[in-house]
Amino acid sequence: MAANWKMNKTVNEALAFAEAFIHLGKNAEVDIVIAPPFTALAALSRAFSGTEVKLAAQNTHAEASGAFTGEISPDMLKEFDCQYTIIGHSERRALFGETDAEVDKKAVALIERNIRPIVCVGESLQDRESGQALEIVAQQVQKSLESYPSGRAEELVLAYEPVWAIGTGKTASPDEAQEVHKAIRRTLKELFGSPAEEIRIQYGGSVKPENAGALMAQKDIDGALIGGAGLAHESFAAIVRYQMESKG
Ligand code: PEP
Repeated sequence: MAANWKMNKTVNEALAFAEAFIHLGKNAEVDIVIAPPFTALAALSRAFSGTEVKLAAQNTHAEASGAFTGEISPDMLKEFDCQYTIIGHSERRALFGETDAEVDKKAVALIERNIRPIVCVGESLQDRESGQALEIVAQQVQKSLESYPSGRAEELVLAYEPVWAIGTGKTASPDEAQEVHKAIRRTLKELFGSPAEEIRIQYGGSVKPENAGALMAQKDIDGALIGGAGLAHESFAAIVRYQMESKG
């Protein structure tokens, strides 16, 4: 269960969240990941040390170093105990022009440094209304993982986030989400064979305590990537508890 804080929370706000949330991280029976802004990674890595809460970055550059003003490399993320990094989020694709080819390079760069990529895919409202959701998402998965080493497939995390459901309050129904997750699993099997069964596929898009249980109960939904409801420790903790109950 991963919270993507996007461009929210100063270091002090991040630490206040950590203080209130930390008890859950000590007894977690599910993997809990927080993706704060880069600026809060150092403080949170100290605050959560010795707990089971893991950190993710929200982006990386694919190169190890160089003349890339404003960018951060996987080696730099490693210094802050980032075990995961989100790549290809729909906001990065729409607002910063990130392409499947760039996501592919980033995924390889991350896994080479032993950071697990959380690769986001998802269709637009137009794609869904024209009946192309499954095809578009399968294509994104294929292109975003074209060079990914098959021996490391089990460390991948996919996040299916229908663009029309992100931050809108609209959620895919459990059946709609399961249909796409199943198609993603099929595509992953074509790419990587049987290890695809072990790849975590998260659902993202207006997940809240009220809808988490029904979504997480679906066969191919293994977890969630949570935006808005991951900002408050109460709602994120409630969602994590649903996951513990449904899988435990
Ligand atoms: C997200 O941005 O990854 C996300 C799922 O946001 P929200 O939960 O707010 O829809």
